[in-house]
Amino acid sequence: MNNKKNLFSKLPSVDEILLAEKIKELIKQYPRELVVESIRESISEKRSEIANLKEDETLKFNIENILDIVTDSSAKKTKLKYSLSLKKVINGTGIVIHTNLGRSLLSNKVKDEIINISTRYSNLEYDIDTGKRGSRYTHLTETIKRLTGAEDVLVVNNNAAAVLLVLNTLCDNGDVIVSRGELVEVGGSFRIPSIMKLSGANLVEVGSTNKTHFKDYEEVINENTKAIMKVHTSNYKIMGFTESVDISELKNLTKKYNIPLIDDLGSGVFVDLSKYGLSYEPTVLDSIKNGADIVTFSGDKLLGGPQAGIIVGKKEHIEKMKKNQLTRALRVDKLTICALEATFRMYLDEKKAIKNIPTLRMITYTEEEINKKAKTLYNKLMALDENFIINIVDGESQVGGGSMPLETIKSKLIEISPKNISVSYLEKKLRLSPSHIIGRIKDDKYLLDVRTIFEDEYDIIYNELKNIFM
Ligand SMILES: *Cc1c(COP(=O)(O)O)cnc(C)c1O
Repeated sequence: MNNKKNLFSKLPSVDEILLAEKIKELIKQYPRELVVESIRESISEKRSEIANLKEDETLKFNIENILDIVTDSSAKKTKLKYSLSLKKVINGTGIVIHTNLGRSLLSNKVKDEIINISTRYSNLEYDIDTGKRGSRYTHLTETIKRLTGAEDVLVVNNNAAAVLLVLNTLCDNGDVIVSRGELVEVGGSFRIPSIMKLSGANLVEVGSTNKTHFKDYEEVINENTKAIMKVHTSNYKIMGFTESVDISELKNLTKKYNIPLIDDLGSGVFVDLSKYGLSYEPTVLDSIKNGADIVTFSGDKLLGGPQAGIIVGKKEHIEKMKKNQLTRALRVDKLTICALEATFRMYLDEKKAIKNIPTLRMITYTEEEINKKAKTLYNKLMALDENFIINIVDGESQVGGGSMPLETIKSKLIEISPKNISVSYLEKKLRLSPSHIIGRIKDDKYLLDVRTIFEDEYDIIYNELKNIFM
């Protein structure tokens, strides 16, 4: 007869479990300390489970397999403990540049280069032709020149760092003029005015929130002015009664006073997206063509590359930045250089760039492609109709990453209504599953936007949904 005392006495000890074949195998792969810790936790959980049993449950408690049960749960715990904290998830949100889910994804072609460069020695700062020391930034120069017509390029950790470096180098202890309509907060509480303060430049605000005229700039410019800066309002739009001054107009002013014209573009677009049914976003090429002396942009927004801040423009200014001590503090790793070079390369052929850079691919899917993606996933999930009602519904995706704030892209979503569990339980189960599927709930329905889901993830989604009822 089972009673609690009896059950407690039959709980295996740590040493007993350590003798199990399964655990011996586990210790070959995982740190012993983690395995022992997991065994202790598993035993302790069983002990409290027994302590909480009601009398009739105590009688029925299955003690025969107790060793196997605790061994299995120890193994599971060890694997969970040892899994990396930063892991792959499935993005079913339809937000393409999802800041919380890693912004832009790199192309598979870039991946191969990264493996190559990161696991072997490279000419990162070595000039193969002369056998002498080289510069890590030269690897990007030729491609950037070709793509933008800019004279030189420098890369730092992110675009916030790029703005900091540009202002610190060109405007320290001087004035920089910015329109009040462009004093952007980018998110994560990064604000253009705060960065300027850090850089040592003195911000001179001109115009009003909705209107800034050429004469507003002209009126405040003086011998203390070190630059004029335009900030692309990439994450908001001022609508209605508005006016701002273009790069090409401002060029007249900066030329006259012989000061640099800086353009913080934010997103780094290299193709005219209006050709693909999206609204026009200023490209780096246009900015340079229109007269910007220095352009800064992010690597992992619409460019579709790694996190980086890219500075392109006049050689004389960029040379100064390279000598700034801050550059060393903001220096990027070889993996960033490698991923950027490989990404920029793809832009030499626009069609290939659109096809192979995931961010561009995802925002330019045709309606037909989206329908097909939705249909394929729908057909797969239909096999689960015992537990779920599955539908294809219309929805909207977002570009995200603070890019194109007004742009929503028509998409197709898979709508899942569980028959026997709540929608919030379903959401949680999928999120916490080993595949970490991130969807959203709207009107008590669970939604997955197919735009940001890869076709090789369809089977995974199917299996995780199925596992909920196993
Ligand atoms: C996003 C953005 C930044 C910051 O770029 P990070 O790469 O995230 O540091 C700066 N300026 C503008 C206009 C932006 O849109």
